[in-house]
Formats: sequence, structure tokens, C-alpha cells
Amino acid sequence: MKRARASILLSVILCLCIIGIYACMVTEYNEKIIIIASADSDSSVSADAVEESSIEFVKKKSVIKAGTSYKFKAVKKGIEDNVTYSVNKPKYATVTAKGKLTAKRMGTVTLTARAGEYLTKVKIRIKPKGIVALDPGHSPKQKSGTEPNGPGSSVRKAKDNTGTCGVSTGVPEYKLTLILAEKMKKILTERGYKVVMTREDNNTAISCAERAKVANKAKADIFVRIHADGNTNHSISGASALYPTKANKYISRLSDKSKKLSLCVLDAMCGKSGAKKRGLFARDDLTGTNWAKMPVTLIEVGFMSNPSEDRKMKEDSYRNKLAEGMCDGIDDYFGY
Ligand SMILES: [Zn+2]
Repeated sequence: MKRARASILLSVILCLCIIGIYACMVTEYNEKIIIIASADSDSSVSADAVEESSIEFVKKKSVIKAGTSYKFKAVKKGIEDNVTYSVNKPKYATVTAKGKLTAKRMGTVTLTARAGEYLTKVKIRIKPKGIVALDPGHSPKQKSGTEPNGPGSSVRKAKDNTGTCGVSTGVPEYKLTLILAEKMKKILTERGYKVVMTREDNNTAISCAERAKVANKAKADIFVRIHADGNTNHSISGASALYPTKANKYISRLSDKSKKLSLCVLDAMCGKSGAKKRGLFARDDLTGTNWAKMPVTLIEVGFMSNPSEDRKMKEDSYRNKLAEGMCDGIDDYFGY
């Protein structure tokens, strides 16, 4: 009996083993079939798509403002490890090893997340910090005639004039203002602003009202008018900023913001260049200011009628300081 029981037990164990081995083989076989089937079913999809489908962004943005950062996150089959990030245009945006992207200037960049042979990409549009309209004062080419000094105004003023001229250097105001505006455009673009210019050469005749309309059309956030002063008294020197008052018939509602903009730009420019600060002056008779639909300032960077200030304003290093200072003031105005 004992032998019979033992042989039955042995048979049962043997059967279980055979069933177990068979089950394993079937499972393995089925898995193989599943794998082969899935590979076959993907035959119409490109190799890239198969690769990209293995890694994906779980945190991403397609629009970012210049001057701000955002942490992207990509995972490979649910695992974040070993994912590295890169951007195609480092001038426009940079990214850390952990995926923190910092947008620098307006444009479009592609961020790539990579894990081994797998990669995925996202296209990002970088919005500007703000839109700045720059108006290099005057031009050697004039539009003849007059225009209303504000929308609907019965007071008419000459469309423009050639401006003043360096008493020692002979440099015309329109040349100095264009050089300063070009320097500012470069700096502001690098700092993430969109810059619009009312003129970019010395061959354009444009009236004062038309200058403001360029800024209005571009929906600029601020309008910065660049000029240099002149006076029959050659001892007067220094910089000033002109803003519209609350009594202005056309942009009284923008007086406070214009005053703030004037102060920011004048303070920073004088701080950087060492120019004497004459202060702010209220003016409601300026055509280019009255036609503007955004906070506006007119900066008089210095007196071309003062021999030493005129000579200083011809130096490239001093011009750089004036331009950088005005840009610093714009950053201050926006709160950057
Ligand atoms: Zn001027």
C-alpha cells in the first residue's frame, strides 16, 4: 500500500511538473507571438516615430515670455532618469541638464529631450518682454508743409525740421539720434524686447505725426523719442526728458505713465553716462508725443551747443553709455 501511495504521489508530482513546463512554454510562445505581432503592426510607422513614442514630455509649454524660465519634464516609459535636454539656438534660450529652460529673446527654438537612442522635440515660441518703439529725432530729408499738433487739433506745426548741429564737431542731430537708436535696438533685442524704429536711415522723410503712427501701428508698449538739445547760450549743458501733462488734450490719461517712463530713462542714462541731469519738463505742444497712444517720453541726451558736451557725444564709448543707460531705464520702467 505504501508503495502504491508513493507511486501515485510521484505520478501526481510528475504530472504537475509536465503541466508547469507546458504552461511556461505556451506563455513564452504567446509572448513571442505578441512581440512579433506588435512589431509587424507598426510596419507602416516610421522608425523615428517608434523612437519618439518611447519618450514624451509630461510638462511642456509652447509659448514662453523672454526673461522667464520654465522647467520642462520628459519621461522615458515612465522613468525620468537619463533624460537630457538641449536647445537648437542658445542665443534665444538656454536649458539646464534638468530641463529648466530660460527664454532670452524673441524667436522660435526647438527643445530636444533625449534618453539613449530615444528623443522627442517641442517647438517653443518666445514672446517679447515688451514692444519698444524708438524714434531717432529729425532727418536730413524733410516733408514740407504742416500738420495738426494732435489728433483733431486746429493748431498746425511744421511736419519736421533738421534739428540742431554740434557746435564743435559739426555732427548733425539726426545722425547722433540714429546712431543712439541703432545701439539701443541691438541692446534691447538682446534683452528680449521687440523693437520698432520710426526710421532706420538718413534718407527717409517722415513727419512727427507719422512717427507716432509707426508706434501706434506696431502696438508698442512705450514710445521713446531721442533728441539732442541746442541753445544760443553755449554754457548750458545736461540731459532732460519731456512728458505730456494731465492737462494734455490728447494723452492726458497717459501722463503718469509717461512721467514715470521719462524719469526711469533719464535717471538711468545720467547714472550710466555721468551726464548732468537737468530734470523733467512738461510739454503738451509736441506733435510726435500728442499723436502717440502709449506712454511716451522725449529724451534730450545733451546740448550740441555746448562745446565740451558736443565733443563727448561724438565719442563712441560715451554714446554706448547713453544707449545702455536708456535701455537700463526701459528695463526699470517694465520692472526687470
Ligand atoms: Zn531735436
